[in-house]
Amino acid sequence: MQARNTDEQAFVDAVEVWAEKELRPVAKKFDQADEYPTAIVEQMKEMGLFGATISPEYGGLGLSAWTYSQIVIKVASVWMAPSGIFNSHLIVAAAIERHGTDEQKRHYLPRLAKGELRASIGLTEPNAGSDLQAIRTTAVRDGDDYVVNGGKMWISNSLHGHLTLLLVKTDPHAQPRHKGMSLLIAEKGPGYTVVGKLKKMGYRSIDTCELHFENYRVHKSRLLGGEEGKGFVQTASGLELGRINVGARGAGIAEGALKLALRYAQEREAFGKPIWQHQAVQLKLADMVTLVEGAKRLIEQASLKYDAGERCDLEAAMAKLAGSEAGAECSQQAMRIFGGYSYSVEYDIERFYRDAMLLCIGEGTNEILRTIIAKQLVERFKI
Ligand SMILES: Cc1cc2nc3c(=O)[nH]c(=O)nc-3n(C[C@H](O)[C@H](O)[C@H](O)COP(=O)(O)OP(=O)(O)OC[C@H]3O[C@@H](n4cnc5c(N)ncnc54)[C@H](O)[C@@H]3O)c2cc1C
Repeated sequence: MQARNTDEQAFVDAVEVWAEKELRPVAKKFDQADEYPTAIVEQMKEMGLFGATISPEYGGLGLSAWTYSQIVIKVASVWMAPSGIFNSHLIVAAAIERHGTDEQKRHYLPRLAKGELRASIGLTEPNAGSDLQAIRTTAVRDGDDYVVNGGKMWISNSLHGHLTLLLVKTDPHAQPRHKGMSLLIAEKGPGYTVVGKLKKMGYRSIDTCELHFENYRVHKSRLLGGEEGKGFVQTASGLELGRINVGARGAGIAEGALKLALRYAQEREAFGKPIWQHQAVQLKLADMVTLVEGAKRLIEQASLKYDAGERCDLEAAMAKLAGSEAGAECSQQAMRIFGGYSYSVEYDIERFYRDAMLLCIGEGTNEILRTIIAKQLVERFKI
């Protein structure tokens, strides 16, 4: 994949160099300590990554989704977790830029672009993930404020971030249910509690937390777009970019795992020859590279449609499905190629394996995505 122009390609190349130089040496240390990479976040701010897809008008880099997905692949091929720090942030920024009022855009986007303000996205609740219309968090109008009560689960970047784009029910009795849902730009304040950082199998270092809201007040001017009942549709449109991004994270993991396995297969010997010369290892390498390249093409296709402003829920779902499954499959095949050493925390491959599985679950499980793909397919090819 090539970026759109030489400037964008130069930026992708610079990110690749940065990831090798700054991320590779520290990834294991931060991952094993489950420690937030503060210095890395500062570097990402300086590089402009928090404004990657925000328009230049608001101080962002205005990169195409196509270029952005390449950046994500480069980062995730070394260490996936940092790409998650700017992913949910940029989904929020894209939602504000697409759906926000002029005042909301002017107020938030320049500081989001600089990374001075960092955002998380608060959709999932303890009882509702795939079925988002079943959320129970309510926002009840009281004078000029909304009063929010409820809780969120699994919200990444919510401890170190400054605001959450919060999915709430402004009309819990609405039918259909989605018509009673709205998004609030919720800055931290009294009544907004980060309950605690969750301990995770992978995707460590990044703060993923449970949130609790008790009589938390948000001014009515922070209702995204200024109109109630639009939250579900606004969320769905933000997920297109999010799914392209998750696909790219998966493709990055897949490519990173392939690179590690390729090197190891040439260094490690068994039965008097490098293990790559055994046909069973060749089959794995061939399957891995085919998955990586296939996923990249689908990510490219979805990005192009997104950049053209076209509806791309089918393409984004396929990109996410292919990328995340490539990440899971390639990291697992790489584990097999590394043999016993794959199981040692001294080697990086076990981190790729642990990180990969999240991508099959987050931003819509792959089961749900398959149902979206199938429904879209029938809609487009109706007999
Ligand atoms: C590390 C991590 C970080 C996360 N970060 C965020 C975040 O920043 N913000 C946020 O809002 N959320 C976040 N999530 C939550 C994530 O998006 C949800 O976990 C995901 O959407 C799945 O929801 P669930 O866990 O409630 O699973 P459920 O919805 O309970 O699903 C359980 C199983 O049932 C299947 N299933 C359910 N309904 C159907 C159906 N109709 N058809 C077929 N199969 C179905 C699912 O595919 C799955 O296999 C994060 C999760 C993790 C693990």
